[in-house]
Amino acid sequence: MKVEVIELPYAQDALAPAMSERTFSFHYEKHHKGYMKKLEAALEAGEADKPLEEVVKAASGGKFNNAAQVYNHNFFWTSMKPGGGGDPSGDLKDAIDRDFGSVDKFREAWKSAGTGQFGSGWVWLVKDGDKLAVTTTSNAETPITGSAKPLLTIDVWEHAYYLDHQNARGTYIDVWLEKLINWDFAAANLAG
Ligand code: MN
Repeated sequence: MKVEVIELPYAQDALAPAMSERTFSFHYEKHHKGYMKKLEAALEAGEADKPLEEVVKAASGGKFNNAAQVYNHNFFWTSMKPGGGGDPSGDLKDAIDRDFGSVDKFREAWKSAGTGQFGSGWVWLVKDGDKLAVTTTSNAETPITGSAKPLLTIDVWEHAYYLDHQNARGTYIDVWLEKLINWDFAAANLAG
């Protein structure tokens, strides 16, 4: 992943009505690209050509916050797809059954992590060693500074859902699991 905001793999209205175009465009154009502008101002000569992950891991302070938010949002857009939702299959389903008990148990863990995250942050499905786990990070924090490999994420900052759901974070997470989650992306990350 280069140091950039990714080109979206779908149109900004393609997730509606599960995620409105208004929510999506404010989030992508204002929030995500806003982090990128601040990151660009903080990059040193030649750094824009490095992998984004490397820049995130080497940064601290405000530069880390903006770099990690660029990375986390790139990962978030591809954690969703038009016509998403449903259940995983193949090796991913087997791993979820093994480590959570069932896909429904995974969904419970995902929602509980998201509604339990105090303030702004992210929920992640990660591969930690040989096991899958649901984790959360606060603000701009990201799993790639540790050893776990991210497979999926949902943004639980209020800006991700307030226009569509106001304060109802749990409803946002329910709709996200039912209509938007991109299991193919998680399966590719698990295999890669
Ligand atoms: Mn966001």
